[in-house]
Amino acid sequence: MASEFLFEFEIKDKDIAARICKLKINGKELETPSLMPVYNPNKPLITPKEMKREFGCEILMANSYIILKNEELRNNILRDGIHKFMNFNGIIATDSGSYQLMEYGNITATNKEIIEFQEKIGSDIGSFLDIPTLPNAYKPRALEQLKITLERAREARNAKFLVNAGIQGSTYLDLREMAAREIGREFRLCAVGGIVRLMENYRFSDLVEIISVIKRNIPINRVVHAFGMGHPMAFSLSIALGCDLFDSAAYALYAENFRYITASGTKRLDELEYLPCSCPVCSKYGLELKELPERERVRELARHNLYVSFEEINKIKEAIKENNLWEFLGMRCRAHPELLSGLKRLTEQKWLADLDPITKKSAFYLQGPESKNRTEVVNVKKRLKRVYSENRREVAPFGKIPAEISDVYPFNSFNSLREWGKKKNENKNEYKIPDIEKIRKIMDYQFGSGAGELIADNVRIKRSRKTKRIRWIYEEKELIASVRASDHFIIPKMPLAEKLHKRFKYPKLRVVIHDDAIPFVLEGKSVFAKFVEEIDPKLRARDEVLIVDKNDKLLRTGTLILSPREVVDFDRGIAVRVR
Ligand SMILES: [Zn+2]
Repeated sequence: MASEFLFEFEIKDKDIAARICKLKINGKELETPSLMPVYNPNKPLITPKEMKREFGCEILMANSYIILKNEELRNNILRDGIHKFMNFNGIIATDSGSYQLMEYGNITATNKEIIEFQEKIGSDIGSFLDIPTLPNAYKPRALEQLKITLERAREARNAKFLVNAGIQGSTYLDLREMAAREIGREFRLCAVGGIVRLMENYRFSDLVEIISVIKRNIPINRVVHAFGMGHPMAFSLSIALGCDLFDSAAYALYAENFRYITASGTKRLDELEYLPCSCPVCSKYGLELKELPERERVRELARHNLYVSFEEINKIKEAIKENNLWEFLGMRCRAHPELLSGLKRLTEQKWLADLDPITKKSAFYLQGPESKNRTEVVNVKKRLKRVYSENRREVAPFGKIPAEISDVYPFNSFNSLREWGKKKNENKNEYKIPDIEKIRKIMDYQFGSGAGELIADNVRIKRSRKTKRIRWIYEEKELIASVRASDHFIIPKMPLAEKLHKRFKYPKLRVVIHDDAIPFVLEGKSVFAKFVEEIDPKLRARDEVLIVDKNDKLLRTGTLILSPREVVDFDRGIAVRVR
């Protein structure tokens, strides 16, 4: 891989396969998921300066082919560099002309020329000339075009910019898989290409399948760009699958046709009787927007379209942060039957559960039939097998839930379970579950069958005076664990961790760290992903883990921040927060 430019990428927050990341290219920082508005110097609607000032835009995209074909533009940009020419000091990505190739059939520049040109003008992110094969193309032709694309990718391997490497293969998942493996091995930024038509035709299920097969076959630390996906309607589905970058030419193209973008679809401006938006444009003009002179109307409409696109990204980021992205998807995808089919297809993606945190900040809300296959349900069902109990109650969609663990996330979100627990406490004659039984079953659920036996008969369990909930577990005078109020997960202290370490053999529950990290961990500092040597693949993000050295000596306990797959692939960011 080329290392001419500086590149950093790390996860800050996550939900499902979505992630909020810090991306740094050539010293310029960006938080993803992010939108790259496309700037066309031939038809400037909103200047790069305005994009930065008004929209807080840190990354832009420009088409290098358009520049290359316009002599005056080309000379100016070659002289000044693209940043100075565009008066924009953020990250500038350039496109290769693939889109023109798709629209007009052929272009008059070679792959090498286009790569060299992007190097000369100083693009931070550049592209090679991949061929966006249309959906449902004749398969031998899709394969032939893919082979040319992969050949051209090889020519871009040593480019002096971060290569936005297109993964093609039309709607053929086997071709997409082959392309993903090869591109994913070589390039740090992978683009899901050839999806514009799918978007335009509302084929969201196909889109989900294609992004999924790509994500499963590239390292999880690759930045993923949904190439040409500029309509906010599909942002949440794509981000849930782990897409990081979107480019929008749509904000301008739609405006030119007087089309008003909303997060759930597109309206014709002249047909609107109320404006469903309060962005600065809509607040300022109201319905008078329809009466503006044509040039101004297009420009203002472009601004509105860009406002709603950025707003949608922010809403999704907030949902990731609050861990209610599934609920957000449920809401968004009910805007159109094809989106709902896309959501249904999303819930069929088994690989998502491995990335999803095991406990979340927000309550679990059932929204409809598709909720029964959510990532949380997949993970919880596996863990329920660890718990033996005669005292169970059916709670859809999880199955029979042991009464002892009804306070644990996500069961604590269900009224039926809460009521059940309450009645038992009020009616003194009825059997009340002893606290120690609860703790033992939560141990089994969280760490594995048999973990509950580590809680001795003589432990002392203290409840919080304020909330009356179980909070601390003592053995003799020693605090061996606490119980987190928000989700009733058990946080083991060293004495209990030692017992878990003895009871469960390597590599279970373990994160094995490099010798260099030991002194830091012993001081209580976090374990960074690059210092993890091995990890139990059955763990989930937010699990409590045992931190050990290469000889399986227990060092500390901590909370896993990333999923095992992310810990293995990422070389930056915090993997375990040490206690
Ligand atoms: Zn608006």
